[in-house]
Amino acid sequence: MYQVAVYGKGGIGKSTMSANISVALAGMGLKVLQVGCDPKHDSTRLLLGGRSQTTVLDYVRTVPLGKRTLDDVIVEGSKGVLCAEAGGPEPGIGCAGRGILTTFDTLKKLGADSLPTDVRIYDVLGDVVCGGFAVPLRGEYADGVILVTSGEFMSLYAANNIMKGIANFDTGKPRVIGIIQNSRGVEKEDEMVSRFAEATGVDVIAVIPRDRTFAEAESNGHTVREMFPDSDLSMRVDSIAMRIIDVRDGVRCAVNPHPLDDDQLSDLAAGRPIRAGTGKVTGRVGCTGCHHRTSIKETKVMSSCAAYGAVAAYLKMNDVKVILHGPVSCMYMMDTSRNKAVLDLYQKDLFQVRPHHNLVCTCMDDTVSIFGGNHLLERSLEEAVSSGSKRIAVVTTCMPGIIGDDCGTLIDRFSSEHPDIHIDYIPADGDIQGEYTDGYMMAAESIADIIDTSVEPEEGLVNLIGTSFFDLHSRENLDSLTTMLSRFGLSENCRFLDETSSEKVVDYCRASIDMMVSDTPQSRELADIVRRRTGREPFPHAIPGGLYSYEEWLDALGERMDRKEEAKQEIQRVEGLYDSFVSSHRDRFSGKRIILVNKMNNNIDWLIDLLRDLGADIVRVGVAPNPRRKVMRAVTRHTDLITEDYTDEMLSSDLDSLGPDLLVSDIARHVTGRCRFARFTKVGLGVEPTLRYAEYLENIMRLPAEEGWKRGLRL
Ligand code: SF4
Repeated sequence: MYQVAVYGKGGIGKSTMSANISVALAGMGLKVLQVGCDPKHDSTRLLLGGRSQTTVLDYVRTVPLGKRTLDDVIVEGSKGVLCAEAGGPEPGIGCAGRGILTTFDTLKKLGADSLPTDVRIYDVLGDVVCGGFAVPLRGEYADGVILVTSGEFMSLYAANNIMKGIANFDTGKPRVIGIIQNSRGVEKEDEMVSRFAEATGVDVIAVIPRDRTFAEAESNGHTVREMFPDSDLSMRVDSIAMRIIDVRDGVRCAVNPHPLDDDQLSDLAAGRPIRAGTGKVTGRVGCTGCHHRTSIKETKVMSSCAAYGAVAAYLKMNDVKVILHGPVSCMYMMDTSRNKAVLDLYQKDLFQVRPHHNLVCTCMDDTVSIFGGNHLLERSLEEAVSSGSKRIAVVTTCMPGIIGDDCGTLIDRFSSEHPDIHIDYIPADGDIQGEYTDGYMMAAESIADIIDTSVEPEEGLVNLIGTSFFDLHSRENLDSLTTMLSRFGLSENCRFLDETSSEKVVDYCRASIDMMVSDTPQSRELADIVRRRTGREPFPHAIPGGLYSYEEWLDALGERMDRKEEAKQEIQRVEGLYDSFVSSHRDRFSGKRIILVNKMNNNIDWLIDLLRDLGADIVRVGVAPNPRRKVMRAVTRHTDLITEDYTDEMLSSDLDSLGPDLLVSDIARHVTGRCRFARFTKVGLGVEPTLRYAEYLENIMRLPAEEGWKRGLRL
């Protein structure tokens, strides 16, 4: 089977031409299938006596997968030509290009490839050469390409774009059969097309004059080739059909075109001689930015997408219904990686999970990606409202962004119809707005908007600020925080953001102190958001880990709450504890060479201080490259010790040249046999957990550098 893609600007007559060619080929005894790939789906109308047929995309939208058959979307027209129409979405909605891709996939799955056809004609809109409309140019489809153009500049411009598209799908074989000039009667039309053809190196295989015969045949629902078989026009159509057969049979050659660059197009438009081209190859731009990677573990493009970050932030509000506008796969990814975030799906018969009362997905499928998905978002909003939700957050994934769903207008309209419902809209569009933390901060900014800044503060209440409340999800740490705060007469007001509610966020200003739960770049960004919203300065010390931070925190809080005596007593207690630990463990650490690698940007000053007090020799503190490093710089007191942008290659070299006794890192490392390895995570609050962690390091250093079982028979 030989496949031909007929491309041309919208309205240039490519459908008329395709139908005539199909009839001509059929008249020569060939079995032809014509596939219309224009959303206005009128390619095959002249082959069907003026009738239209069911489009593949309408069929896909309305008929379930298991009930589809090829016969429903392919019908026989004049001269036995088989006809199919892709169809497409309403103008301005969805993605017609994606629809072309779906049409080709659907026809293939339904068995179109096994039809006994000799030639297949794809009639394709050539104004937009996005990935979808370029599908027929792929090597698996078009063996040959015909360009239909008039002498109008925009028509030639479209033809030139198709030629550029062909270069992106280079099959190694010349594929352009030629240009059909479908005349519009513009001034110097023949000359314009000839100049273009000559400059691009493509033959004009037919000149079709402007002729009322076409209109006459079409008004009767037929092709000229069928209705006026002996006309001059039919002779010209036959010559095109013969050319196709000749190229198919190798009697004539197709060519590789030389599309014009911008300067050459200007010359063409201005009627000047067309200057020589730049000679640059027009084609797919290869990626040169990545070095070779051998495993996904080495590839960290982004920790996760902005949509996921925004969802994660809203799931910390227990009274906000979160609508993830996107496909199930996005939700599945978020569910899987989040573990405890369990999601409620609309189509529960497709995917069974334990329902989570806060999160739903609009479940956009492939059909929606073609026809637009706003109706699904609207349905989700209505369901959320009818289930009693008063606060809703809509987070968009990549799909609505790619297909251009106008969610903002829909949400505005919905909000005006439901003035009692508060809807936050986070147009994360997946990763367009950045990575996980960017999406998280967008959501946090929106959540902070509901803080009522007129609420008067009360003594004795504290707000806790942080993106991660991991430390407080253990009973032990929560108890120690309660003890630490109650020493100063404080109790929690609102966690921004964790296990909270809109009511608590609205009343955020009831607390007299805002305090970061841990000192990380993310917590600092969050504190900035709250500062901008409330105009209040957060307490300058995060809830501490390690002796020195704890002492500073106690001093400052004692001063602030006028409880200096309580602070002093606690400082004396922990100093005694710390000194005694250091003196009894110092001999284990003294002189030990230690490398610290901090990939997650947590504040590890407590660890540096403790190891130094224990007499260890910290030979390197490496901090991995991180887009948020500007904030990171401020997170440590030990900037003089830190090597920024510390890579795995640098670590490997340090392991050889510095000969450390121990590597401590917050991500798993493969250092078997080169030195001992210990993992650090957040250890807890105050002093005691850090001393327990030092005991863990001590135990690691007692072990052989390489575990025996890993060496197998060598032991
Ligand atoms: S929103 Fe985009 S980046 Fe995020 S999971 Fe979905 S497809 Fe991936």
